Amino acid sequence: MKKWECTVCGYIHEGDEPPDECPVCSADKSMFVEVIEDVKVPEEEAALAPESMPSPMTHTPPTFLAKVYAFTSTLILRHHLHPITVHTPNGVLPMALIFILITVGFGAPLFETAALYSCVFVLLTMPAVIFTGYEVWQKRYRGALTPIFKIKIGSAIVSVLLLVVLVVWRVLQPEIVTKASSGRWLFVLLAIVLVGAVGLAGHMGGKLVFGGRKE
Ligand SMILES: [Zn+2]
Repeated sequence: MKKWECTVCGYIHEGDEPPDECPVCSADKSMFVEVIEDVKVPEEEAALAPESMPSPMTHTPPTFLAKVYAFTSTLILRHHLHPITVHTPNGVLPMALIFILITVGFGAPLFETAALYSCVFVLLTMPAVIFTGYEVWQKRYRGALTPIFKIKIGSAIVSVLLLVVLVVWRVLQPEIVTKASSGRWLFVLLAIVLVGAVGLAGHMGGKLVFGGRKE
């Protein structure tokens, strides 16, 4: 029995032929390579090799910025900085939503302030979340644009846009999240969609990382 590995997500298929489509990331048949147990290169080094080694065609030494970028990139992949940073939106935003609901339901202004600070904090961490995600996508998954990555990119864009809208809205109209405000339910609805979007991105990430494992 041969073994085939999906080069996009690492899913292992056993059989004489690779599957028509990867059950985890939907990459097609051409993305599968046969696994030959003895000479398998560790995936991280294989993914990093083209970037970390200077091209044999050009002999110009890498610039300082290029070195910093290569070092950062290696750090992100080796120490899993994307799953670490991504726990900020995934952990803090559901809490912020609960605080908003408490304020709308019971008129507790301290919870509303906490929700605002939580959203601003998450917004400040978003550049790190997106940069680490982009690096992992480019290096480990070779920038593959299969449905799972389209969903992740789409939900990241929706998340950032909604977060900016909610923070700006709250700053311009400080009384928006109160029992008396007429626009409060639209605000709550956008906050629910925001939590849904970060949850979806996280779920897809979990599918990529754990989906290929046998029970
Ligand atoms: Zn796959």
